[in-house]
Amino acid sequence: MTYTVRKFDAVIVGAGGAGLRAAIQLSEAGLKTAVLSKVFPTRSHTVAAQGGVAASLGNSEEDHWHWHMYDTVKGSDWLGDQDAIEFMCRKANEVVVELEHYGMPFDRLDNGKIYQRPFGGHMSNFGEKPVRRSCAAADRTGHAMLHAMYQRNVKANTQFFVEWQALDLIRDDEGDVQGVTAMDMETGEVVAFHARATIFATGGAGRIFHSSTNAFINTGDGLGMAARAGIPLEDMEFWQFHPTGVAGAGVLITEGVRGEGGILRNSSGERFMERYAPNAKDLASRDVVSRAMVTEINEGRGCGPNKDFVLLDITHLDPATIMKRLPGIREIGLQFASVDCIKEPLPVVPTCHYQMGGIPTNYHGQVVLGTDQVVNGFYAAGECACASVHGANRLGTNSLLDLLVFGKSAGETAVEDLQKGRAHKPLHTASIDKTMARLDRLNNQKGGANVHETRLTMQRTMQKHAGVFRFSDLLKAGVTEILKVADDVARTEIKDKSKIFNMARIEALELDNQIEVAKATMISAEARKESRGAHVRDDALDTAETPDGRDDKNWLKHTLWHRDGNRLEYKAVKMKPLSVDTIELKKRAY
Ligand SMILES: Cc1cc2nc3c(=O)[nH]c(=O)nc-3n(C[C@H](O)[C@H](O)[C@H](O)COP(=O)(O)OP(=O)(O)OC[C@H]3O[C@@H](n4cnc5c(N)ncnc54)[C@H](O)[C@@H]3O)c2cc1C
Repeated sequence: MTYTVRKFDAVIVGAGGAGLRAAIQLSEAGLKTAVLSKVFPTRSHTVAAQGGVAASLGNSEEDHWHWHMYDTVKGSDWLGDQDAIEFMCRKANEVVVELEHYGMPFDRLDNGKIYQRPFGGHMSNFGEKPVRRSCAAADRTGHAMLHAMYQRNVKANTQFFVEWQALDLIRDDEGDVQGVTAMDMETGEVVAFHARATIFATGGAGRIFHSSTNAFINTGDGLGMAARAGIPLEDMEFWQFHPTGVAGAGVLITEGVRGEGGILRNSSGERFMERYAPNAKDLASRDVVSRAMVTEINEGRGCGPNKDFVLLDITHLDPATIMKRLPGIREIGLQFASVDCIKEPLPVVPTCHYQMGGIPTNYHGQVVLGTDQVVNGFYAAGECACASVHGANRLGTNSLLDLLVFGKSAGETAVEDLQKGRAHKPLHTASIDKTMARLDRLNNQKGGANVHETRLTMQRTMQKHAGVFRFSDLLKAGVTEILKVADDVARTEIKDKSKIFNMARIEALELDNQIEVAKATMISAEARKESRGAHVRDDALDTAETPDGRDDKNWLKHTLWHRDGNRLEYKAVKMKPLSVDTIELKKRAY
């Protein structure tokens, strides 16, 4: 196989919210910018975001960025970096208003201001009571957002490469990043995109689990590419299980349903969240609600013939409100559960939803090694990146905010770096040769492993060994199991070697990335001997020094997993914000 070379100022991999926001920054600065995407931009997973984007606009009641910051630090179970969290919460109003000016059709209040709804973990006055902070366009916020930003990019002459799959990072011997190799799915042609700045915005990897709210394209390609190029992955043990996936289907029912007044009930009709979170109830943070649901099911209070789900009840809401604020949800209920939520409650279970970890960055969007060493020419934003604002658990509506804030700052930083005069370095062909060797291996493999079966084994292993609750013996066995799966991934075989739209090849290449994410997750989770946020293990004890199993003395630190030798390294959490006082550690309760 051969390849050709194309030169750009900047190449962005990913055309979801983060990629599109970063591209606006670069293209509007007059830089020649390529955006690569496996699917048409407006079909990226951001399109599925229902509930909204957080900003303390205070349109319905008093609100403040400092309260939002407090909620985010608390939501993160203190693992989030407080400098990045302050940066994000302070920028929220600016990026949301900008989006409005791009033409985003937000829902409105009668006075014309942006409509806001309550969401889990978002409270007024440092944790007092739920506050209306989520800016929404019905239950199709992400959809509206992608369209507004795609149009803005078209206007700014961003060059889109649609149905292109990035394969590997081009990283030279000095560790600087020079672009990516990519395949045109339509022709099978390989191109090296040689760039002065490379931004990863490849989204999440929820498809490493068996039950997931994520799109099929969410295979963690950016993380796989980074790991293969020697960049560690941060905090990969932390995965969010969303409380309300449709039982059996996994499709998401937005937390906005509970924001609008929805109630979770067990088999006896009890509103069980009153026992687990007396204050925030159904609007406690996601890890808390997911665990409460699993506890109800495990203790025999689940619903249905197998007692394996709970119910989400909105039958007490006015049907007109449901049709106006949650029309998509009613449709999902009808399609995937054969339930009309106006008349009957919906069957729901916790489902893998979001990765808190990712490629380590600072709040400028630059990729960093160790504590603070910047990787020249490499930036990341959105779900594939770890800034880290979500720490051990993300609050709903903080991800769309993360995309806007860090998409913008990654773009802004790249523009500054390029305007200072960074030139194209001579193309590092040795890293391109590695990609070509990987493709050759796949083309020539004989008697290898089946891609579909290997992927399924990986997904089942992740679900069983690293799910909502974690058990020390299962984690230990999980490490052995996942390394076995990795051996199979290294010898996958495709029968069809044709070039034109060969999705078998694309899926095999995706699996190469998924397995890196799976290994990082299992190994990091096995090693973290405490419970924090979404990572809750059976052997972490609830004592005075370790409330709910959280061990700040030993584990208030970020994990860095290195692909090479599955080595783990740790780095300190940034407890110092930019301008306000540190939000001091305390036990998390809702
Ligand atoms: C069902 C659902 C509902 C959600 N609701 C909300 C919500 O209401 N509020 C909220 O804040 N968050 C929500 N989230 C989370 C949030 O939507 C996501 O975290 C966020 O949209 C991710 O955006 P992104 O730009 O990082 O990536 P994505 O939108 O996933 O885009 C990734 C892009 O990368 C491209 N890509 C990936 N790999 C490659 C490759 N190898 N080559 C080329 N291109 C590649 C893809 O084609 C795509 O364009 C939700 C998530 C889900 C799954």
